[in-house]
Amino acid sequence: MLGAVYGDIIGSYYEVHCTKDYNFPLRKESTFTDDSVMTIAVCRTILDNGENITRKQLKKRAYEYAVRYKQYYSYFRNAGYGQMFIKWAEERNSMKVQKSYGNGGAMRAIPIGYAYDSEEQVLLQAKASCYYTHNCKEAVHGTQAVAMAVLMARNGETKNSIREYLTKKFRYDLDYTIEDIKPGYSFDSSTNYSIPPAIVAFLDSHDYESAVRNAVSLGGDADTMACVAGGIAEAFYKDIPEHIKNFCWLKLDYTIKSTAIEFCRKYNANYS
Ligand SMILES: [Mg+2]
Repeated sequence: MLGAVYGDIIGSYYEVHCTKDYNFPLRKESTFTDDSVMTIAVCRTILDNGENITRKQLKKRAYEYAVRYKQYYSYFRNAGYGQMFIKWAEERNSMKVQKSYGNGGAMRAIPIGYAYDSEEQVLLQAKASCYYTHNCKEAVHGTQAVAMAVLMARNGETKNSIREYLTKKFRYDLDYTIEDIKPGYSFDSSTNYSIPPAIVAFLDSHDYESAVRNAVSLGGDADTMACVAGGIAEAFYKDIPEHIKNFCWLKLDYTIKSTAIEFCRKYNANYS
């Protein structure tokens, strides 16, 4: 699961200073951002109540996710959230439903693929995790796609079967390489523009680091795309290079570390 957080950290500098260079350096200015904070909020929600849900229980579960988003936002208010999310998170009296089609649902979906073992449950939980902030088909599909990729990857499915499933289920075009699209790719944090290429960054990789490098060097929403690609890649390769772990671990706040460790231990999510 920390593969997602580390991807966010590595991509954070390049979200602002976009690069097309695959061999970009890890920058000392790198820091965890909203992607990590919200991923950890999802971990906390699941740690507090990891029960399976039925369709009827979706709204109740959605509320539990939303409460944690607001709580973790209040801990880390300057982590680079979108304006719509800030407005939602700072609303005092009610839990409003927002219909953002941004990639903020998908960026926090990695823990769902670790915590639940069936397709039905992963899809339901992903939908619940979007209900209050990303209540539209585009964002829900992106969130479900990322969580399902993690479930399939950790179950030892091949890249081909992951590609086939996501293509069929969500009608994503994943049949290209990073080099194919790099020249014309730019910054856009909508789900449909950024999440399928982030998944391709994983499909087109040969290890954890190459997945993150593929994602960042597209020159788009680098932290979120590296968070998604890195999270799936860790579930698939089950290994993160020591130099990346060492670089990123020191950038983490205690609140994030402690919840991450608790989650990884409980769900066997590759903490080391
Ligand atoms: Mg971010």
